[in-house]
Amino acid sequence: MTAPRKMEVRKFEYPQVGKDDLVVKIDMCGVCGTDQHYWLGELDANYPIIAGHESIGTVDRVGANAAVDLGVQGEVLSEGDRVTWSNSIPCGKCYGCRWLAWPKSSYCTSAETYGNDSCEDPKLRPWLTGGYAEYMVMKPRTWVYKVPDELPTDVAVLMDTLVSIRGVETSMSVVPAMREGFAQFDMVVIQGAGPVGVMAAFKAKAMGAGKVIMIGGPKERLKVARRFGVDQTIDIEEVKNAADRLEVVRSATAKIGADMVVECTGFPAAVPEGIDMLRIGGTYVLIGCWANRGPVGIDPSKIVTRELHLVGQRYASPQQHARDLKFLVKYSKDYPFASLVTHRFSLDEVGDALQMQGKFGGMKLAVVP
Ligand SMILES: [Zn+2]
Ligand SMILES: [Zn+2]
Repeated sequence: MTAPRKMEVRKFEYPQVGKDDLVVKIDMCGVCGTDQHYWLGELDANYPIIAGHESIGTVDRVGANAAVDLGVQGEVLSEGDRVTWSNSIPCGKCYGCRWLAWPKSSYCTSAETYGNDSCEDPKLRPWLTGGYAEYMVMKPRTWVYKVPDELPTDVAVLMDTLVSIRGVETSMSVVPAMREGFAQFDMVVIQGAGPVGVMAAFKAKAMGAGKVIMIGGPKERLKVARRFGVDQTIDIEEVKNAADRLEVVRSATAKIGADMVVECTGFPAAVPEGIDMLRIGGTYVLIGCWANRGPVGIDPSKIVTRELHLVGQRYASPQQHARDLKFLVKYSKDYPFASLVTHRFSLDEVGDALQMQGKFGGMKLAVVP
């Protein structure tokens, strides 16, 4: 991506592979809402960048040290292994890393990530750190995991989407016994019917949620969501008014409100609407509103007088990645994950993919170099 809405295919030299290096041949890279934000110019980026950070690939060349050091679960990496990796590499030095939550690295304020580096800055050579490419070079200290044989590539590619709804787990681990946070059999509302919303529904259900209601559209997405644990859907194209949607949720919850509402839309207007849907002491999890799309009016007294909990989340940690890989394997036979990748694009068509993503077409779009 050379600028917002500008994409071109460039050739780079195959990198030199030293003892500490790992080059991965990309098999597939999912299209993420974050790439959409770069495409629309809603997030700062050092253009030109090779975007894409939901990649799954095969080890192409690996140095002797990297083979041992980068596989974090004791595995030795060798050529031909299918691999996935955590997109955030905690620095280990900042206040967040040292004092707040090590090894829960999402508090790291200077984590290295993928899919947003300048591919002209001489300091960042060899530049191949984005997923919309044939090859990627792993950064030092990346947490790399072998993909278990049970997971085909078009299921493993969902890893980044799955780790992105970490907030569902975070809110469950508040104090469910005291009816704070999200507990088993609880009523959950998911705002947003894209891949993130579907993963949030699946995760909440797998962790014991009772009824899961999803608000979103279009119709085809809501239909897919029902195969991933959603019990009731509210189509925003049919129920257009926020007050009416609130009424549907209230009557589905015996006028009590939802125990947890998860925002997976990226639209600030969803936030006050979702807050209104919570029961007293309920938990609101914000996932989709990653880029700044402007402020939104919230009446703080609702949070105070109804004792609401707000849960935000940054990156997913490498530990989350490891846990969710096992999670995906555990449920891979029970849910039709592979059906979530609905459209495949070549490298020349990445711009088309991002355009389609903006129109909520399909479900998970993926680039196959
Ligand atoms: Zn992503
Ligand atoms: Zn740090």
